[in-house]
Amino acid sequence: MTNSKAATKATAKTKTPKAPKQGRPAGAKTKARAVANTIITKATCPKCGSTDHKNKRHVRGAIASGTIDGQKFVRYKHSNADCSQCGQALLVAEYELECS
Ligand SMILES: [Zn+2]
Repeated sequence: MTNSKAATKATAKTKTPKAPKQGRPAGAKTKARAVANTIITKATCPKCGSTDHKNKRHVRGAIASGTIDGQKFVRYKHSNADCSQCGQALLVAEYELECS
């Protein structure tokens, strides 16, 4: 006839500390991001014309401005690689072109 177990359960403290609110604030809207264009051209093997490289190893790279084929670039990266098709050793020079 005793209902003590249920009674203690009901009176037990059930308060849990509130977790700090995470994530974006309510009502935050995503703004459209400005698009910065860059042109990446595929380096072609001078021997067989393939654009696939293997064993690509970073040689040097920097933020530097200059001109390549009449186009201004803002960053460059040089890597050693081998052509996937004919095995020709290559210096792959990549240039990130300036936004226009
Ligand atoms: Zn090749």
